[in-house]
Amino acid sequence: MSHPISPVCVYCGSSVGRGEAFADAARALGRAMGERGLDLVYGGGRAGLMGCVADAVLEGGGHVTGIITRQLVDMETAHTGLPDLRVVDTMHQRKMAMVERARAFIALPGGVGTLDELFEVLAWAQLGLHNRPIGVLNTGGFYDTLLRFVGEMKDHGFLRIDPARTIAVAADPGTLLDEMARRAG
Ligand code: AMP
Repeated sequence: MSHPISPVCVYCGSSVGRGEAFADAARALGRAMGERGLDLVYGGGRAGLMGCVADAVLEGGGHVTGIITRQLVDMETAHTGLPDLRVVDTMHQRKMAMVERARAFIALPGGVGTLDELFEVLAWAQLGLHNRPIGVLNTGGFYDTLLRFVGEMKDHGFLRIDPARTIAVAADPGTLLDEMARRAG
C-alpha cells in the first residue's frame, strides 16, 4: 500500500539562503522522505533548496517528479537528472500540475515564489477544495514571524481556518512528516 502522504509536494527557495542551515535542512528533509518511502513532486529546478531536496530524495531511492516551465528550461535551471521532468507552458499550469499529483504539501524556507505556493494551498484548503496535510519546515524559526501574522489574521477575523489545525509546523523534518502522516491517516 502506498504511504498516505506520498508523493509530497515540496515548495522551497530557488536559492539556498545565507549560511548552511537551510541547505542542510532541505537535504535532511529529502533523507527523511527516503527513509519513509515518500516520493517527491516539486518545481523541477536544480538550483537552491529545490536541488538539495531533489538530490537527497533521489539518493534515498525515492521517485522524483519535477514540473517546470519551458521558460525555466530555456534558462537552463531545470534539474537534468530527474527520472520524470514535465515541461509546461505557464506557472499556473505548473502549480496546478503539482497540486493535482501531491497528497501533502510542505513549505521549506524560501522567497515570494515559495510563499505564493504555500498560500495557494492554504487558500484552497480554506475553500474546502482539498483537505490534504500542509506542513511548514520551520528551520531556525524562519517562519515564526509569518505564523504569528497568520495567527493575527485569525484574531482580526479574516481567517476561517484554524491555523494550528491546518498547518503542521516543526523544525525537524522527520517530526514534520510523521505529524502530517498522522493528520492524513
Ligand atoms: P522563491 O521562493 O522565490 O525562490 O521561488 C521558489 C519557487 O519559484 C520554486 O518552487 C519554483 O516554483 C519557482 N522558481 C523560481 N525561480 C526558479 C528557477 N530558477 N528554477 C526553477 N524554479 C524556480
